[in-house]
Amino acid sequence: MIEHEVEVLSTLKDIFGYNHFRGSQEEIINNLMFGKNTFVIMPTGAGKSLCYQLPALIMPGTAIVISPLIALMKNQVDQLVGHGINAQFLNSTLTKGEINAVKKDTLSGHVKLLYVAPETLTKAENINFLRQTNISFVAIDEAHCISEWGHDFRPEYRKIRTIIEQLGENIPVIALTATATPKVQLDIQKNLHMEEASLFKSSFNRKNLFYTIRPKGGTKKELIKFIKGHKGKSGVIYCLSRKKVEEIAEFLKVNDVNALPYHAGLDASVRAKNQDAFLNEEADVIVATIAFGMGIDKPDVRFVVHYDTPKSLEGYYQETGRAGRDGLDADCLMFYSYNDILKLDKFNKDKPVTERDNAKQLLLEMAAYAESSVCRRKVILNYFGEHLEKDCGFCDNCKNPKEQFEGKEYLSLAIKTALLTEEKFGVQHMSQVLAGIDNEYSISYQHNKLDVFGEGKEESVTFWSSVFRQAILNELLDKDIDNYGIIVVTDKGKAYLKKPYSINLSKDHDYTKLESEQETEEANVQVTCDEALLTILKNLRKKVAKEKGVPPYVVFQEPSLIEMATVFPTTQDELSGINGVGSGKAQKFGKAFLEVISQYVDENDITPSSEVVIKSSVNKSKIKIFIIQQVDRKVDLEEIAESKKIPLAELMEEIEHICYSGTKLNLDYYIDQIVDEEKQEDIYDYFMSADNDSIAHAIQTLGREYTEEELRLMRIKFLSEVAN
Ligand SMILES: [Zn+2]
Repeated sequence: MIEHEVEVLSTLKDIFGYNHFRGSQEEIINNLMFGKNTFVIMPTGAGKSLCYQLPALIMPGTAIVISPLIALMKNQVDQLVGHGINAQFLNSTLTKGEINAVKKDTLSGHVKLLYVAPETLTKAENINFLRQTNISFVAIDEAHCISEWGHDFRPEYRKIRTIIEQLGENIPVIALTATATPKVQLDIQKNLHMEEASLFKSSFNRKNLFYTIRPKGGTKKELIKFIKGHKGKSGVIYCLSRKKVEEIAEFLKVNDVNALPYHAGLDASVRAKNQDAFLNEEADVIVATIAFGMGIDKPDVRFVVHYDTPKSLEGYYQETGRAGRDGLDADCLMFYSYNDILKLDKFNKDKPVTERDNAKQLLLEMAAYAESSVCRRKVILNYFGEHLEKDCGFCDNCKNPKEQFEGKEYLSLAIKTALLTEEKFGVQHMSQVLAGIDNEYSISYQHNKLDVFGEGKEESVTFWSSVFRQAILNELLDKDIDNYGIIVVTDKGKAYLKKPYSINLSKDHDYTKLESEQETEEANVQVTCDEALLTILKNLRKKVAKEKGVPPYVVFQEPSLIEMATVFPTTQDELSGINGVGSGKAQKFGKAFLEVISQYVDENDITPSSEVVIKSSVNKSKIKIFIIQQVDRKVDLEEIAESKKIPLAELMEEIEHICYSGTKLNLDYYIDQIVDEEKQEDIYDYFMSADNDSIAHAIQTLGREYTEEELRLMRIKFLSEVAN
């Protein structure tokens, strides 16, 4: 026994480099080494894989590790090989020759860990090979894939038990997962015939993660604000579609965030490059579909944003779990919209009926979590079958609690309804019964004849749903594990009904109202401009213009000055973020302005507004880059307009936009073709002496023989040469 302990500890130190075990790792390892079936539920980052890797080294024979993550198998094996361990893998990415080599090596007894994909495992030839292998134990990683109720169901996982039985007698099995609701846990145990296995379940409480949910509406602006609040920190932004990933990554780049996209549609080499850039901190932010992050262990991810609402709380928990692995505080922000839930439900419409129903239940749980005003951590942990006695104090709902109300009568009614409907129904139906909604269900079950029918009709179905969910959080009701969605009454609930006591409840957030309010707010956004500073800036502009011998509008346009007097930029970086400025202009004219603004901010004790002004949309930035490239190659404007299928007038506008944001454009090749030299000189002189750059003014002064097109082209030339 002592000898065994010494060996375990020395392996931990010598091979893996740790001095101590974490959590229940040691107990798990001992349990497995005694040949017992072992079931491990441990959040990601808690050291799950060590629980099978270490015993595999000590126990005689080869450990078979079943894992669905083919893309990561090579990485995992490489890591082990890096520790000096003989590990190999078998999956569809190998050639026939490679497969034979792996098999030979395994049969010779050298291989300690053999990773196998479930598809590979089901093939007869591979079963035969494994039957000849001396197997120490079988590890089933990502065991939640067994359950249709998990977020990652793999049908071939259902066959694992029968296959293990064919491999030999009494082979110990260790099943591991980072996420399992009580329902999923039961599913795994039943399917693997592991009801008797020793269960090791770690707490799912990630105390250093701060959970926030905000309704969608003005989301892009919120996102920029949030990221600017985490400047230079590592973060992941999850979006639901590849298209959205591209769009948001581009949008962030335009707004000076060092971000890269990651999704399955990108070329493998680009994906690997972007992932490495993120890991090596060349990029701060990665914008990704949920394909990103499995097996990635970057300890200092400081924030995870869900730009879209995730499909399930499991997924949400997994993805947010990639933040703060180093134990330091990290932020998890999710943008929620019920429309996302409807959209996701639509995606499921081609799935078989039960699968679709299951997926819908998971979606509704997600919506309930987002809309709840109860401590987020309480809800998440309850979802994973853990009870948190006190509110956490470290989530948005705890920081900004909603007003609470006495819940005694409401809770009693909810429990009564569950009992009267014989504990055979879900939250939705029972809420409808209480609200007195007559529908085919209440009629066919005769629930419209119950005492409680319509007893709470002054409140809405949504209100009652929230009461039922809070009754679950208070352990008065419980979810029936065998029958998903059905609510049963606990002993505590029965006692409560006899002798109710005071429990505070809170109303759900009403995001529908918020969402539309935010949108209108955004539409007529009135950020106040500091008039005193604006005057100072205008005077400064005059002075600078005089020094440089150019008209004031050439230095900065009025709207740019107004924006400066609104958001108070104090660095070159911030200044180039102002519309119409750009880095070229910021460098050329910015210094004096920054000094004045900094001084003003100091003297007047101004905290620079957190108001962010976001730059133009993505498509615009794409077309601009295209135009700049074409102009550099001296392509005629008509041709550029045609290739982008836009009218010439619109192209001119784009070009003006580019020019006003401070980018030099040399259009001489085009202007020389259509404006004669003399005219060019006259117009140029005019703009040099004018006090504004209005085309209408120019026509008034110069006369009708100059066309609008000529004037606009020359204005671009002038601004490019003098202003930018
Ligand atoms: Zn909380």
